[in-house]
Amino acid sequence: MTSPIAIALHGGAGVLQAGVLSAEDENAVHASLLSALKAGLSILEEGGSALDAAQASVVELEECPWFNAGRGAVFTDKGDHEMDAAIMSGDHREAGAVAGIHFARNPIKAARAVLEHSDHVLLSGVGADQFVAARALEQVDNAWFDTELRRRQWQAQRMNPQTLSLEPGGIEKKFGTVGAVALDRSGQVAAATSTGGITNKRYGRIGDTPLIGAGTWADNRSAAISATGHGEFFIRCAVAHDIAARMRYAGVRLRKACDQVVLGELKAVGGNGGVVAVAPNGDTALVFNTPGMYRAWRDAEGGLHTAIYAAEDRLHAQ
Ligand code: ASP
Repeated sequence: MTSPIAIALHGGAGVLQAGVLSAEDENAVHASLLSALKAGLSILEEGGSALDAAQASVVELEECPWFNAGRGAVFTDKGDHEMDAAIMSGDHREAGAVAGIHFARNPIKAARAVLEHSDHVLLSGVGADQFVAARALEQVDNAWFDTELRRRQWQAQRMNPQTLSLEPGGIEKKFGTVGAVALDRSGQVAAATSTGGITNKRYGRIGDTPLIGAGTWADNRSAAISATGHGEFFIRCAVAHDIAARMRYAGVRLRKACDQVVLGELKAVGGNGGVVAVAPNGDTALVFNTPGMYRAWRDAEGGLHTAIYAAEDRLHAQ
């Protein structure tokens, strides 16, 4: 018996007020989200795995400078880029993650290599960089991740350090972490998340993205979840695992579990952000407690949607 397929992705959450982006930039973002969705979807339609589909969508978003992952990664307080990524399969809960890496062009491929070619789940820093080099994954100079937009955001943040990104009233609100979740025809779910972290973050800081159960989780018994938002809060709330646990232990449906955690638990401690999630029955949820989240999803009838702001929903011709 073949399972339905499902896919959803995010490109970060934050204070995305309508009017901040020009119409032209908005259209460019929608186009990037749609193209990343299609990259993963085409793999699912051809009978490929959820793991490959989630990775393909994330690679596409990492290559796009609009998003804070890969090419568009933010600056640390040292003026360089440290990237985190994780990928997880719902089958046997196999997972791979990297934290604080500097040279992998596509950090999500480094996370996948940890899953497939190491005995470990999470590699960090210099050791992770060496692992990337040993696996012959494509590497670039750290300065390759410098972009004008991120430099401006970094400088603004340094002039006003109390405004941590993703906080209400902060400066760097527009683009964040990327992530994708997918369900394939064999009923497997998978999640992938990749980020440059938070602008002007302390050198060595690790967020929720590479922490299995915080920013990334996949389990065929519940759901695949990828998060974006202020990572410290997502770690403290074990957001992704909490959603899955509510489904598994209490029989809560996907959407309600996401609401309970993102709008309830997380919000109650002051955490801003959101999640995308898919369950093995095809349920798909995109939930955030911020005014917007860059996102794209396929609905149960096969319609492809993208959105930035809360009430937005652009349905695209197939
Ligand atoms: N969650 C990411 C982090 O804290 C940031 C983001 O989602 O934009 O590293």
